[in-house]
Parts: sequence; structure tokens; C-alpha cells
Amino acid sequence: MARRRQLYEGKAKILFEGPEPGTLVQYFKDDATAFNNQKKGTITGKGVLNNRISEYLMQRLQEIGIPTHFVRRLNMREQLVREVEIIPIEVVVRNVAAGSLSKRFGIQDGTVLPRSIVEYYYKSDDLGDPMITEEHITAFGWAAIQDLDEIMSLSLRVNDYLSGLFLGIGLKLVDFKLEFGRLYDDQTDEMHIVLADEISPDNCRLWDVRTNERLDKDRFRRDMGGVEEAYQEVARRLGILPEGGPRDMPGPATMQ
Ligand code: 5GP
Repeated sequence: MARRRQLYEGKAKILFEGPEPGTLVQYFKDDATAFNNQKKGTITGKGVLNNRISEYLMQRLQEIGIPTHFVRRLNMREQLVREVEIIPIEVVVRNVAAGSLSKRFGIQDGTVLPRSIVEYYYKSDDLGDPMITEEHITAFGWAAIQDLDEIMSLSLRVNDYLSGLFLGIGLKLVDFKLEFGRLYDDQTDEMHIVLADEISPDNCRLWDVRTNERLDKDRFRRDMGGVEEAYQEVARRLGILPEGGPRDMPGPATMQ
């Protein structure tokens, strides 16, 4: 089997050099972490499910004109993506109070917010992803004001579209985290902002609309049990649960 160069290993994913210049292979692991790496574990089949779920959601978003880094799924755990320059910002969009927002402002979990709230965090494990404002982002040169306008507009479009998509399968999109990258177009010499990373129950809060049952990574964060089943249920409702369940298959190309 051909050896591939590993470029980066994150908490839930590994990035390998892609088959053509300007591409990467994004490998989804079963590893799970929470609270800035203080809690570690494994969610069996998570990588397979998140690969599918993220493929599905990125494709739907591309169909409505949201540019993304996604090219195609390669196998059970890997997808081909465009190599982008990651902007070191996490964009969190919230529709319902939960998690750190509930804690910070003392708002009861589940309170519907008067309008969607967009927050920015600086991507830094060492600093524990501190919350930042546009002022920090532009002053420290992480993104230009025009980039931020584009990021905000794309994030709100993603929120509108995904809220409707999930509502259609009986899920409330409580909040989620997005990451963006810069893609340079050699032909036009232009730079575009594109959606990167993944969209999955690892970085979205998804609650059943009737019961408020949590079908996302909070089950792992809070030791609620039924973590694997929750990820499977999201895939099942999206109509993409791999046949025979999320059984892992030895992927053809996971060598380093
Ligand atoms: P909170 O700020 O309430 O902890 O998280 C808000 C939303 O963003 C949740 O849906 C959560 O899953 C997601 N999120 C925030 N930070 C991260 C992160 O570092 N990694 C992942 N996977 N998700 C995050």
C-alpha cells in the first residue's frame, strides 16, 4: 500500500496529502475529546457516521451556492477536500440557549433566543479557544473586515438552511460551530472564503423537537450514555445510515 504524508493530526481528524496538488484527504477518527482535551474517549463508528453526515450536509449547502472545501467522499472514513488556508477562528451560531452561553449569562438551557447570535472564538488549544470580537480579529490580522462580512453572511445562510433541513427530520438546530478557509483561484488570481472542516453531531447541538432529547456530542461531554445511538439516529433521520449500520470497514488507504 502506498504511503501517504500525514500533514496534521487533530482531535477527531487526520489530514493527509491528497492525490493531486491542492487537495487533502480528511480522515475521520472515532476519538472524541471535550473540555479542551481534559476528557478523552472513543465513540465507536463516529468517524464513519461523521464522514457521511458531513458529506451529506456539505453537498446540500453546495447545492444552494455555499462554497465549501468538500470534493467527494472516498471511502467509509475519508473524504477528498480542497486544501485551504484555515482562518484561525471558530464561528458559533446559536438559535437556542445551551452550553457556554447558558453558563455565561445564566440563561436556562432550551430558552429560544430572540434572534440568532453569532460568536467568534480564537482557535487555540493552548489558550482554550478564547471568545473574541471583530476588533481582535481585524487588529491581529486573522481576517480582514471584508472576509468577516463574507463569513458572517455565509454563516447565517448556513444557519437558515440547516435549521430548516433539520426541522424537516424532527431536529432542532440549537447551535453549531463552523470553520472557514481561504481558497486561491490561480485562473482569476482571486481569493474566496469557503466553508471548511466538518458539520456533524460533533460540532452541532441537535435536539429532538418533541422530547428535547440530545442527539449530539453533549451525550459524551455529559456522560449521558447512548452516544453511538445518537449519532446513528441523526444519520438514520437524514436517510444516510450506512447499510447494516455503521460497521467499520478496513479503509483502503489509512497508512501514513
Ligand atoms: P459551546 O460554546 O456552547 O460550548 O458550543 C457551542 C457550539 O459550538 C456547540 O454546538 C459545540 O458543539 C460547538 N463547538 C464549540 N467549540 C467547539 C470545538 O472546539 N470543537 C467542536 N467539535 N465543537 C465546538
